Amino acid sequence: MSRECERAGGVNLGQGICDQPVESAIRRRAAQAIDEGRNQYSKFEGIDPLRSRIAAKAASYNAISCDPDTQIVVTVGSTGAFALACLALLDPGDEAVVFAPYYAYHVNTLRLCGAKPVFIPLAPPAWEIDDSALEAAFSGKTRMVVVNTPCNPCGKVFTRGELERIGELARAAGAVVVTDEIYEYILFDGNRHVSLASLPGMSESTITISGFSKTYSMTGWRLGYAIAPVDIAEKMGLLNDLLYVCAPTPLQHGVIEAMDLPPSYYDEMSAGYARRRDLLAEGCRRAGIEPCMPQGAYYFLADVSALGCPDDAAAAALLLQKAGVACVPGGAFFPDPAARRSLLRFCFAKEIGDLERACRGLARLGS
Ligand code: PLP
Repeated sequence: MSRECERAGGVNLGQGICDQPVESAIRRRAAQAIDEGRNQYSKFEGIDPLRSRIAAKAASYNAISCDPDTQIVVTVGSTGAFALACLALLDPGDEAVVFAPYYAYHVNTLRLCGAKPVFIPLAPPAWEIDDSALEAAFSGKTRMVVVNTPCNPCGKVFTRGELERIGELARAAGAVVVTDEIYEYILFDGNRHVSLASLPGMSESTITISGFSKTYSMTGWRLGYAIAPVDIAEKMGLLNDLLYVCAPTPLQHGVIEAMDLPPSYYDEMSAGYARRRDLLAEGCRRAGIEPCMPQGAYYFLADVSALGCPDDAAAAALLLQKAGVACVPGGAFFPDPAARRSLLRFCFAKEIGDLERACRGLARLGS
């Protein structure tokens, strides 16, 4: 859709790229690291001051206590962290429980490792978990449960109660929970982020993944991290060495500065995304497109059945052609694309001017 959008000169609300600039203090620190000659490989688990800073943030924001020397691996994006977790834990034929709608990289990486995703449908518009479906998803082959909170694409923020139940079932099955928390700071309407690893008894069987791409608008820096039990972190570190050697050294220095930004940075970021969410949602509603309002992250799924298109791909093509707006066909986020023919995903991490242009385009749909 990004390529099609470029050809059509439209507004790209498809790919999850944030338009916001990187804070100047972070850029300066990375440039300084390059100027100072910090341009060689780092330890495969990442530079010491960054791991210490991540441990301090995990304690204060996530209520996770961990040893920065043995439990943290700095990775090539949170994408890299998820790949390492899968390679460290899964053998062909193993099963992994995944909530749908899902982030396709998760499912594709599981499949690449020969594992079988077992899907739990979340029910729109609130994306609730059906407890009996959750329970039934576990089998003797379950090795992993994948949680993404706040969730891409639906914006669900898992509650403490939901996470407790997931943790309880995972522990009973001897499975490790891998939680992708890359949108942990992007929260709306008073929703609070809860890290599953902070729940009693869960730190021993949880891998917490996060990263810098979304919170600091630096998707191209490719920096993320995992916090894991010591034995798993050790394997993930060795795999990080084998696949990547290390994450980019000077940029690791730069993001230390990111973690020192004041609390107001995070509040303003969420408030800014809430404004963007509301603006785009209103534009969609006026065009007869019904958004499922997200609690966090910067996407929503919206029902486009009123447009009368035969499927989601046709609806996405119509939006690009008539409204000059690119989005992602909803089928990309569900195991059975045919069941979700009426949904499209919109990303609202864009400049206000671009979102206004998108809304003007959507208004043309009725004409
Ligand atoms: N995890 C989720 C749920 C995402 O939505 C994305 C990007 O869209 C990523 C991971 C990728 O993160 P990173 O840039 O840290 O690899």
